[in-house]
Amino acid sequence: MTSPNVNLPRFISVANQKGGVGKTTTSVNVAADLAFLGYKTLLIDLDPQGNASSGLGLDRHASSTIYDVLIGQKEIPEVIQPTELKNLFVIPANPNLIGAEVELINAISREKKLKQALKKLPAEFQFVIFDCPPSLGLLTINAFTASHSILIPTQCEYYALEGLGQLMSTHQIVREDLNESLEIEGVVLTMFDPRNKLTHEVVKEMQQHFPEKLFDTKIPRNVKLSESPSFGKPIVIYDPESKGCLAYLELTREMLRRWAMEPKVEEVIETTAAIEAAPAAQSQPEADLIAEVQVEEVSSEVPVSS
Ligand code: ATP
Ligand code: MG
Repeated sequence: MTSPNVNLPRFISVANQKGGVGKTTTSVNVAADLAFLGYKTLLIDLDPQGNASSGLGLDRHASSTIYDVLIGQKEIPEVIQPTELKNLFVIPANPNLIGAEVELINAISREKKLKQALKKLPAEFQFVIFDCPPSLGLLTINAFTASHSILIPTQCEYYALEGLGQLMSTHQIVREDLNESLEIEGVVLTMFDPRNKLTHEVVKEMQQHFPEKLFDTKIPRNVKLSESPSFGKPIVIYDPESKGCLAYLELTREMLRRWAMEPKVEEVIETTAAIEAAPAAQSQPEADLIAEVQVEEVSSEVPVSS
C-alpha cells in the first residue's frame, strides 16, 4: 500500500454558514463511516443546537460538553463520549455554547482555544470532524484554526455559489492570520435531485469554480437520512441498505482515495446495532457492507490519553 499523502490525525471542519445545507448530516455520517471503515474518529459538535450530539443518541443537555473545554473548565479526554459504533466517539454540545462566543470575546488567543485544547487529544484518534454552526463566528473560526481542511456541504440551489464566496474569503483570512495550511477538503453536493433542472446548472458552475475540489459523489435526497437522527443513529446503523448510506460510504471512500488511504475494514466494523438493523434477506451489493460486521459488546471505554 502507498503511504498516505496526509498526516494523521486529520482535523476536518464541516462548514457552510448557510443553514440547513446538510452540515450535521455530513459530519455525523462521514465520521461514522470513517469509524465503520476502521479509523478511530472523534466528532466534535460545535453547534449550540446540539444536532450532531442528539443525532448520535446523546442528550442535548449533556453536562460535559465542548463548552466546558473552550472556557477552560475541562480537558478534552474528560468530555469524550462513546457511541454505538466502536470506533466513533463524540464530544457533545448544548445550548451553553451560545455563551462561549461572548465569554471568549476578551480572551487572549480566543481563536486558538480549541486548537490548544486539542493538544490533549488521545493519540489513538485518526480523524477529528467538527460540525460547525451555520455562521462564520468565533466557534467556526476556532474550528478552522484547529483544522487541516474544510469540507463544504452545499445544496444545488440559486445563490449557493454566492454563499461559498463568503466562506472562501473567511478561508483566506484564516490562512493569512491563524492557520496558513488550512485547505479546502472538498465541496459535496447534498440533497441532490437529478430531476430538478437547476441541479445540473449548479453542478456545472461548481465544476467550473472548484474543478479539483468538487466530489464526484453526490448525496441524494433520501428520507432515511432525515429519519435516522431521531433514532439517534448514523445511517450506517439505522439503514445500511439505504441510498443515503451508500452515498455517504462512497463519499468517505472517495475522501480516503484522495488521501491515498484504504479502508481498514478487516480490523474493525464491530457493532451490535448494524446486525440488528440489517434485514433478514440482504440484497447484493449492499449485503457486502454488513457482511463483515462482527458482533461485539459496544465499547464504553473512553480512550486514554497517551
Ligand atoms: P444547520 O445549519 O441548522 O446546522 P445543517 O447544515 O447542519 O443545518 P442538516 O441538519 O444536516 O443541515 O440538514 C437539514 C435538514 O435536512 C435536516 O432535517 C436533515 O435531516 C435533512 N437532510 C440533510 N441531508 C439530507 C438528505 N440527503 N436527504 C434528506 N434529508 C436530508
Ligand atoms: Mg447542523
